[in-house]
Amino acid sequence: MTQSHHVSEELLMSYEAGSLAEGWSLAVATHLASCQACRARARQATAVGGALLDAIEMVPMRDDALSATLERIETLVPETPRPLSIPVMGNVPPPLRPYIGPDLDALAWRRMGPKAQQILIPTGDSETSVRLLRIPAGAPVPEHGHRGLELTVVLRGMLIDGDECFDVGDIEEGYDGLEHQPRAGEHEECICLAVTDAPLRFKNPLLRLMQPLLKI
Ligand SMILES: [Zn+2]
Repeated sequence: MTQSHHVSEELLMSYEAGSLAEGWSLAVATHLASCQACRARARQATAVGGALLDAIEMVPMRDDALSATLERIETLVPETPRPLSIPVMGNVPPPLRPYIGPDLDALAWRRMGPKAQQILIPTGDSETSVRLLRIPAGAPVPEHGHRGLELTVVLRGMLIDGDECFDVGDIEEGYDGLEHQPRAGEHEECICLAVTDAPLRFKNPLLRLMQPLLKI
């Protein structure tokens, strides 16, 4: 599958450096599992980082250090991306399986708002909240704003946010101050992985009251 919404450079570099909290890593890894283009970018970032570190160690810096580094990068980056995803049974991307198992249809959902459902996914990091959201076909999630970062990866169906459509495997990065009301595509329910690092700001006062219960 070819994705149209990808991981930003900053996130990808941090992911490759191993400096992301578990929740963010899980979202990036879930996107990478279905996105060959980002897997190739990730390998390139690692190669460039390694080559630059090597160059820093060349003391004193030779005149040809930069061209030597670039040459090294050429040899380090494979031209054809290696296949990374291992074909296995089930409809859950491999990085998520240790958390929720292999089958999206076997999960125990809990209500969240009038139509949406959710499942909280515990992780070892205290920085992020990780959940699956399930939105019926054509339905919106409650309108809300963000105080921090939100990463959303579509696992089933389509997520529509404003005039952008996110397909299975696509990732959406939502930043501080974003106010939106994504909705599921008309033809199929939408299930997505959503990772946040700060409570959402719901417009609906009833939902605001229920936030501690919903842990969102
Ligand atoms: Zn991508």
